[in-house]
Amino acid sequence: MRVCVIGTGYVGLVTGACLAYVGHDVICVDNNEEKVKLMKSGQSPIHEPGLPEVISESIRQGKIEFTTDIASGVKHGEILFIAVGTPSLPDGRSDMRYVEAVARSIGESLTEGYRVIVNKSTVPIGSGDWVRMIVLDGMAGKSNLDQIQFDVVSNPEFLREGVAVYDTFNPDRIVVGSGSDRALKLMQDLYKPIIDRSFADDKTLPPVPVVVTDLNSAEMIKYAANAFLATKISFVNEVANICDRVGADVKEVAKGIGLDSRIGSKFLQAGIGWGGSCFGKDVSALIYTAEDYGYSTEILKACVRVNELQRTLVVEKLQQALKILKGKTIGLLGMTFKPDTDDMRDAPSITLIDQLSRLGARVKAYDPLVSQSGLRQGFSNVIVETDLERLADGCDAVVLVTDWQEFLTIDYAKMLTLMAHPVIIDARNFLDGKALEALGYKYIGIGR
Ligand code: NAD
Repeated sequence: MRVCVIGTGYVGLVTGACLAYVGHDVICVDNNEEKVKLMKSGQSPIHEPGLPEVISESIRQGKIEFTTDIASGVKHGEILFIAVGTPSLPDGRSDMRYVEAVARSIGESLTEGYRVIVNKSTVPIGSGDWVRMIVLDGMAGKSNLDQIQFDVVSNPEFLREGVAVYDTFNPDRIVVGSGSDRALKLMQDLYKPIIDRSFADDKTLPPVPVVVTDLNSAEMIKYAANAFLATKISFVNEVANICDRVGADVKEVAKGIGLDSRIGSKFLQAGIGWGGSCFGKDVSALIYTAEDYGYSTEILKACVRVNELQRTLVVEKLQQALKILKGKTIGLLGMTFKPDTDDMRDAPSITLIDQLSRLGARVKAYDPLVSQSGLRQGFSNVIVETDLERLADGCDAVVLVTDWQEFLTIDYAKMLTLMAHPVIIDARNFLDGKALEALGYKYIGIGR
């Protein structure tokens, strides 16, 4: 099938490249010329394991092209994905200006025939009909309106950064919402190779469940999923804070409750709280939407508040261990919001850097990706070191902020010899506390 994906960020590029890889003819459109130049040369502008290989193979097979020209993409695609960003506005609403610009350009670029316009971006409930309206606005003035037809589908994305290619080929479910049977049928044809598990790691699994629903319910499914996951993390963080006070170990507690199949073990890791480009903005967009309809979401507000408090907890633990932070040097292990991504959007490390520098501490950081890339130039109030020895040198405490796998195998004994004080705060409960204590560290976890 002929596909056009507009917006080639973490979602759009992975979607476009994977659809090309399974055999569709894909044109990816982005208005960032530098990104397009990079992708045309077979490189990925984002760090995502497996993505460069999928892009190069799709280019080699002649299945994918990249352009800044939206009109040529719209002409090509029978299915047009909108996958641009929907960041938060200061009041918590979603900033829909990128979606609006793309929907209008689609309307202006439509020439003839039938198209399915797919909202892949996470958009507030009701946006399907709103996109239809903007596309129609863009079409205004055309002389052949009777020859142009389109339907709008909501197809929310659930991929996780860091494993986005895996998730695209091995989804838990695919959600498609629309009032048009024709559009829904085309969407199921599009995803057939994925639904049939032809590209899955385990091809013996039954087909991927497809949730076929109306537009509003599909949009709500995305928000409800992220709100639930964020709440689960805030819940276990609250349990961790009680554990800290009563002398229980939240890792043991999480294991004990996670084995209950009604609860499940995932998203029960206590720590510095959730971050990233989605949870914060999606939870606040849902709170805002509910308020638009006169409903106050008490659980979601508490979920956000607990997360804010959790981010300050590390500073409190540092104050307990070191007393005055003014003039102290704190080293951060990890900066990205989670491992295996270069995404720094709403990363807890940024909050921590701000809080510590406001208290007069000197902050250094090392991150396996940020330290080795051009990204390291872009920060204030932190010295981004290029290796772990430089990070440890003179530190009064080290804080593990991102649970990169390689932080498990650091030479912590050597690190200790370089530090001014032997304090380590494990803000992800990721390290072996007993082993670190045996080396002479004062190990402080979350809720342990
Ligand atoms: P992103 O910021 O990484 O990418 C957006 C891309 O759109 C950028 O490359 C930008 O240059 C491009 N763009 C903006 N305006 C454009 C225009 N007018 N024409 C062409 N290109 C344009 O965003 P993302 O993280 O991929 O998120 C996209 C959407 O998917 C958001 O709504 C997000 O909530 C949702 N989502 C994201 C994730 C995730 O893990 N990142 C997961 C699920 C859903």
